[in-house]
Amino acid sequence: MGRSAEYLEARIGIGHEHRAWVEVDRGAIAHNVRQIRSLLSPRTRLMAVVKADAYGHGAVSVAQIVSEAGVSGFAVATIPEGIQLREAGIEKPILVLGAAHTADEVEAIAHWQLQPTLCTPQQALLFSETLQTSGRSLWVHLNIDTGMSRLGTSWKKALDFVQLVRGLPHLEISGIYSHFATADSPDRTIMDRQHRRFRGAIRQIADILDRDRRPCLHLANSAATLADPDLHYDMVRVGLSIYGLYPAPHLRSAADLKPAMSVRARVTQIKTIEAGTGVSYGHQFVAPERTRIAVVGIGYADGVPRNLSNRMKVLIRGQFVSQIGAVTMDQLMLDVSDIPDLQVGEVVTLLGGEGDRAISADDWADQLGSISWEILCGFKHRLPRILT
Ligand SMILES: *Cc1c(COP(=O)(O)O)cnc(C)c1O
Repeated sequence: MGRSAEYLEARIGIGHEHRAWVEVDRGAIAHNVRQIRSLLSPRTRLMAVVKADAYGHGAVSVAQIVSEAGVSGFAVATIPEGIQLREAGIEKPILVLGAAHTADEVEAIAHWQLQPTLCTPQQALLFSETLQTSGRSLWVHLNIDTGMSRLGTSWKKALDFVQLVRGLPHLEISGIYSHFATADSPDRTIMDRQHRRFRGAIRQIADILDRDRRPCLHLANSAATLADPDLHYDMVRVGLSIYGLYPAPHLRSAADLKPAMSVRARVTQIKTIEAGTGVSYGHQFVAPERTRIAVVGIGYADGVPRNLSNRMKVLIRGQFVSQIGAVTMDQLMLDVSDIPDLQVGEVVTLLGGEGDRAISADDWADQLGSISWEILCGFKHRLPRILT
């Protein structure tokens, strides 16, 4: 085992204490931010979307990495996600994309100096009334629904909404934004329609806003940022691409992105089973011949989708190896018949590269009929995150 441990540490520079972990490549994240920045005009701000623990990469460390790489603020989905960044000492603006409904939430937002999204007149009234007690004012963003049909006030009522908020005490409009439903599609029909609605609403609003206190207008997610500079406005809200994935294949030519996340685990046992022996729950795999199998210490509770059971490949020593049988909560099995000298403790790569081969979140998403966003944020807190 001694030699094997040295071999492993030399190979990836990580000690033996972890059965499975997520590696986050700082250099890749900084590189992706630079790539995205290079698409923006100097006056366009870049907001890093770090909701869902930065898509599984670890919100605090990602926020620290991108702060240094030229990001002007952050977006999170929930108030606790915003508090987590503030507690870690992040001082830049933090937009909460989700809706708040109670006085307690308003007070938490004010206490932690987060910038809430206001989606409805009722919410605006709640915020204004709740802030009366403390006398504080809050910077807020107004969400205009131009066709996503999720949060926000209809573009048709945008003018009334802005007028109402402007008249309420304790609220200052920091931004006005909308969100695309189909920015990752090569067919731009729906995106263009949403853009026309946004532009129309903004034109009406412009007449009632003070020229010198114009709110920050923002519309583009990763896909729209890569697709078209006309959609950048004052700020873009980029999530996925910071983590190195493309929202769609046709956007690959727009920037050179590097995936930042790798998922690795160790072999915890090796055994040989006879022909006819079933493997794992349900015996989905039955050995057709004498087979050497390895047990690996990672499972669906860590974020490996159970639906990939018996059809995924992993990398060991730079070679593809088949996963066999059902993925279980904490372990999965591999057919390692082709690596007779494999040792317990050796490293298995589930996502990421080894040598000149790599497995990407897009490969898993394609196999599952899902999207890379879901794969990345499936890796939750049970796995330690190691910055490389
Ligand atoms: C999640 C989210 C984003 C980021 O989307 P990506 O496709 O990951 O870049 C931007 N804006 C809003 C409102 C979001 O909910």
